[in-house]
Amino acid sequence: MVEFPIYMDNHSTTCVDPRVLESMLPYFCKQYGNAASVNHVFGWRAGEAVESARAQVASLLNADPKAVIFTSGATESNNIALKGVVRSAPAGSHLIVNAAEHKAILDPAKALQKEGYSVTVLPVDRYGMVDPQRIADSIEPKTVLVSVMFANNEVGSINPIAEIAELCRERGVLFHTDATQAVGKVPINLESVAIDLLSLSAHKFYGPKGIGALYVRRGEPRVRIEPLVDGGGHERRLRSGTLPVPLIVGLGAACGLSQSSMEEESPRIRGLRDRLWSGLQTQISDIHLNGHPELRLSGNANISFSGVNSEALMMQLKDVVALSSGSACTTADPEPSHVLTAMGISEDLIESTIRFGLGRFNNADEIEIVLEQLAGSVKKLRGLS
Ligand code: PMP
Repeated sequence: MVEFPIYMDNHSTTCVDPRVLESMLPYFCKQYGNAASVNHVFGWRAGEAVESARAQVASLLNADPKAVIFTSGATESNNIALKGVVRSAPAGSHLIVNAAEHKAILDPAKALQKEGYSVTVLPVDRYGMVDPQRIADSIEPKTVLVSVMFANNEVGSINPIAEIAELCRERGVLFHTDATQAVGKVPINLESVAIDLLSLSAHKFYGPKGIGALYVRRGEPRVRIEPLVDGGGHERRLRSGTLPVPLIVGLGAACGLSQSSMEEESPRIRGLRDRLWSGLQTQISDIHLNGHPELRLSGNANISFSGVNSEALMMQLKDVVALSSGSACTTADPEPSHVLTAMGISEDLIESTIRFGLGRFNNADEIEIVLEQLAGSVKKLRGLS
């Protein structure tokens, strides 16, 4: 059965999986204790639920549960990682990011630059990817942190994270990855990859909004972080504040579901995406796929329809399908997508670009409907111009 409008904007956010919601419900009105209350059963139960969720997050990433810090989401995790690490380093320390990062990395980097730290924003290639050699060449004696996103939220390209992490480790520089779009969709093994810090948000993989985590590797060499929020000393003193137990339980459940379903789900979603792209290619001329042809998220198709204004196209299709132009994550910013710009795509093509984000709840019937309607609308709009 198909419900309209069809949701194909899963990079922006996802539907909470009903099984995730189910797991959260007892923690609102029955087990509503404060996880930091140590004197009664309400607190103990809440504390146990938090630790069990922490173990689920850690298990998905093959990480030490003690290294997982709960935050309000990837924006906060990125801020703690960048500002926390750089501010705890000596004055004049150097940070390396790149032009295709989410604003939740670029803006904290800008803030650090204003504070007097030095920041390098590296260019990306035509797929929006970072060249490890460029990173190696940009590391200076004062470099303390390199941050490279795991997968791009607009074009889906997956960076060579293991290689970049390893070269940072060899050079004695900490490595952070904003893995918001990758967690739950791409296998990540923190035992075997030299990642020091990793950000994630539950709502990108069928968990609730307003909860995320920052992985902070333990052990030597020590990752020093100055917290952004001081208070009760929760979460290894890195993120004070009463823990939102129902949200944390939801994040844990979302991790558990992704862990058990990823192997089967990822090829299924890739199949839908490939059918969409091949169908569009046979029905519509002069279209371009942005991002890497293979090294990309299985649910992502970022497509430019030459000569068609993407806003007009989405308006035509608003009752059929929910899509996104550029990045819906920066809605306050009317500028053309900084990611597509950094990839060297012309402004004309950027204005003709639509991001399809397929996910767990999409099916083959939906793809056929969208294909047919989209082809009709593109032809109509091209006929008008
Ligand atoms: N990083 C990336 C790559 C993202 O896609 C997003 C969400 N669009 C964020 C960070 C921010 O996540 P949140 O809004 O959940 O804090």
